[in-house]
Amino acid sequence: MRFLPVFLDLKAGPVVLIGAGELLRTKLRVLAAAGARIRVHAIDGSRELGGLDGKDAAQIEFIATDPLVADLSGVIAVVCAGAGDVGVAMSIRAKALGLPVNVMDDPEHSSFIFPAIVDRGDVVVAVGTGGTSPVVARRVREKIEALLPARIGELAEFIGGFRKSVNERIAEFPLRRRFWERVIDGSIGASVLAGRKGEAETALKAISDPSEFARADKPEGSVALVGAGPGDPDLLTIKALRALQDADIVFHDELVSPEILDRIRRDTTRVAVGRRVGKPGIGQDAINRRMIEAAQSGQRVVRLKGGDPFVFGRGGEEVEALRAAGIAYSIIPGITAGLGGAADFEVPLTYRHEATRITFLTAHKARDAETVDWSTLTDTRMTVVVYMGMTAAPAVRAGLFAAGRSPETPVGVFARVTRPDAQGAIGTLRDLPELVRQVSGGPAILIIGDVVRHAGSLHRQNATTNPAQIISDLLDAAE
Ligand code: SAH
Repeated sequence: MRFLPVFLDLKAGPVVLIGAGELLRTKLRVLAAAGARIRVHAIDGSRELGGLDGKDAAQIEFIATDPLVADLSGVIAVVCAGAGDVGVAMSIRAKALGLPVNVMDDPEHSSFIFPAIVDRGDVVVAVGTGGTSPVVARRVREKIEALLPARIGELAEFIGGFRKSVNERIAEFPLRRRFWERVIDGSIGASVLAGRKGEAETALKAISDPSEFARADKPEGSVALVGAGPGDPDLLTIKALRALQDADIVFHDELVSPEILDRIRRDTTRVAVGRRVGKPGIGQDAINRRMIEAAQSGQRVVRLKGGDPFVFGRGGEEVEALRAAGIAYSIIPGITAGLGGAADFEVPLTYRHEATRITFLTAHKARDAETVDWSTLTDTRMTVVVYMGMTAAPAVRAGLFAAGRSPETPVGVFARVTRPDAQGAIGTLRDLPELVRQVSGGPAILIIGDVVRHAGSLHRQNATTNPAQIISDLLDAAE
């Protein structure tokens, strides 16, 4: 390491910026955004602010004097961007005065370099590559951006606000550290990160004995109900990914794809719960009980569910059980199979004038299908998305016929959507049970409605198959 990352106090004095053109303005924006006072020597005489507004302009002073003879007393750093030979001369002058100097893209004449910055208020991350590759530094920064919760700066600020008063009440340093670790890792930290600062403040103020809180041998457990999406791991939300990385134990549905389970930290315990059709599994009460026990023992629990936890996922019941048990919890939505299938097979679920409503329904068994009030589904401008509808396909068809939907209504059966082995079959309502047989195995969703005509090609199955053509051929044949 040649360049040590340190943080410069911009309140200590002005920064001198020398150069011209877009390079100068880029550095001007960086420095202004950081809150620096800036003395600009524009070699080309331009006073262009590069999109900065009046508030920033108040920190910027244009100086006409030659920078090589200008007064540098009180200046905290010198930055040259697009300054040509003047940059090199300025570097020699600044070094002679013991002033930190940066000449853009010229590490040899720089005594400091600019890192790529992740700026979250009080939390700032600097990424450097010793001046070798700013592009690599930017890629690293993007990865860190994705990893850091958006409100991490607010968490730091929140703690900053209480640090003095709490520290005065805990004498021993290690105990102080444990106090803050418990606050950050527990429900108070989670509340701040979720944007509920008021709640966090109340909880923190309610701690009557901070030393005792810090000494508690068990960390505070919590449960995150996480939607895993329909299968493609890249469709996990950033929040879901973070929860998987933080979890001590994950209770997952059978439906969650192996590629997603791969994103769980290696040393995390994984427990498969939930049932597959036809196979017995752990009952819902047992799942609730095990989640609660794990959280009560201080673990960070993730309950990982296919799609979205609140769409035919029994997430509602689990939340009620967690509330009743007084466990801290959070809910992270996921992409539900219906939306994943629509995107994968390019079926717009709504379409101007043609489809103005969407219904998501479940028809697990023919028995369930009998309980559906099909008469509410007569509107031809309604797209119907059916979950768990493979075995009940004949009953779904019968129900929609009874409601007066035309046998020629376009239908798509989309299996294993967003996964590498996704498969689709397209036809009309009349052929629904046959279409279900065409896709080799579930899980599958059924999309019913005129919008299916707009589907893209069934790429995985046969690159030349055009859904609109299939439907129009079928209709021709029927006539
Ligand atoms: N909470 C889930 C739904 C669970 S119910 C969600 O929001 O997606 C299980 C049903 O979801 C399956 O029977 C099937 O209809 C549908 N499903 C789940 N994953 C799927 C996938 N990858 N492809 C097609 N359908 C899927």
